[in-house]
Amino acid sequence: MNAKLDSTIANRPVTRQTFDEVLVPTYAPAAMVPVRGAGLDLWDQNGKHYLDFTSGIAVASLGHCHPVVVEALTRQANTLWHLGNGYTNEPVLRLATALTEATFADRAFFCNSGAEANEAAFKLARKYAHGKFGAQKSRIVSCYQAFHGRTLFTVSVGGQSKYTEGFEPLPPAIDHIVFNDIEGARAAIGDDVCAVVVEPLQGEGGVVPADAAFLQELRALCDQTGALLIFDEVQCGMGRSGDLFHYMTYGVTPDILTSAKALGNGYPIGAMLTTNELAKALNVGTHGTTYGGNPLAATVALTVLETINQPAFLARVKEAGAKLRATMEKLAADYPQVFAQVRGAGLLLGLVTSEGWKGRSKDIQRAAEAHGLMVLIAGMDVLRLAPALIVSDAQIAEADRILRLSLDDLIKAAA
Ligand SMILES: *Cc1c(COP(=O)(O)O)cnc(C)c1O
Repeated sequence: MNAKLDSTIANRPVTRQTFDEVLVPTYAPAAMVPVRGAGLDLWDQNGKHYLDFTSGIAVASLGHCHPVVVEALTRQANTLWHLGNGYTNEPVLRLATALTEATFADRAFFCNSGAEANEAAFKLARKYAHGKFGAQKSRIVSCYQAFHGRTLFTVSVGGQSKYTEGFEPLPPAIDHIVFNDIEGARAAIGDDVCAVVVEPLQGEGGVVPADAAFLQELRALCDQTGALLIFDEVQCGMGRSGDLFHYMTYGVTPDILTSAKALGNGYPIGAMLTTNELAKALNVGTHGTTYGGNPLAATVALTVLETINQPAFLARVKEAGAKLRATMEKLAADYPQVFAQVRGAGLLLGLVTSEGWKGRSKDIQRAAEAHGLMVLIAGMDVLRLAPALIVSDAQIAEADRILRLSLDDLIKAAA
């Protein structure tokens, strides 16, 4: 019998090796395969335990299998899954109401990922400018080292050429400026610019916070030129900075905000938030997606939002963020040959490697994994920590202990 038709395939053993045989090799996943999670605890196929300081790249912000989210998803799974955009549904109406009440925005558009949220934002900016000013106002300004997703448009707007090489021809009329460079922004943002997009805290680009003065200047330049200011909060939003969205920390309000990652805690959903005036540019038939805001995704996101957007919850994120930062600053001070700097906001921190350890973030990540701690990297020079927002002080202490063990191993191996 053809193995591909074997009806018992669900029971067949699969291993990390299987990945190399049947997946398109876009990723190089770790050697271990996680099979079960609860909170910040994960277990692999061999039953080995890991403390997860990645949250699936800042996604599972309430931890794995949070009981309130599981309950909401299960309830909705037994009620209604999907309708298509010929019908609206109660969960999406509630989610849009909650997001617009909680933010500057009046309107929400839902999709399935961060890239799609940004794609919608860029299309809205183009469409709005086209209608209001004419076709010549089409330029999009973004920052080097920015990351906005992997569709051809969003990867072109992102500022890392390694992600666009070989995919040319790229969409035109996209310029890049140096992140936090005010003079560069002034030079690039002219009357032909329809949108300026920025991450208030660059995640993939190395966990680099924006200067308040830079964001304020972008706001002023957009106001002067009629360009729209887009904040990509796919990674830094939804409570990770200690505020519901990071623009609130800065007091700089964008025209369009994109969210995804933690919005669904692992259930795929993205959102683009904007104002009444701008929303009009995407009238019936101009944009859409089959799954966007379906009842399952909207139910999960509403539950996540209502859990995170509580004063006590966000106060604890700030407290845990300060605790993690102080702990990592102490660690960096104790290992000055390894780490030069700790940066970031809330529970998204980057430990920047020193001169002698440039290019070695992945070595540190692997050493930590061997000791049962999962961490992220943000490029080869930055170790990135993004634990679930429910992380306890004891878990922060445990991560610190394992990181120190891991560094001791690497230093010993080099001696
Ligand atoms: C992850 C990320 C994206 C892309 O999100 P996907 O869901 O992977 O498409 C976009 N912007 C930022 C800032 C991100 O961190």
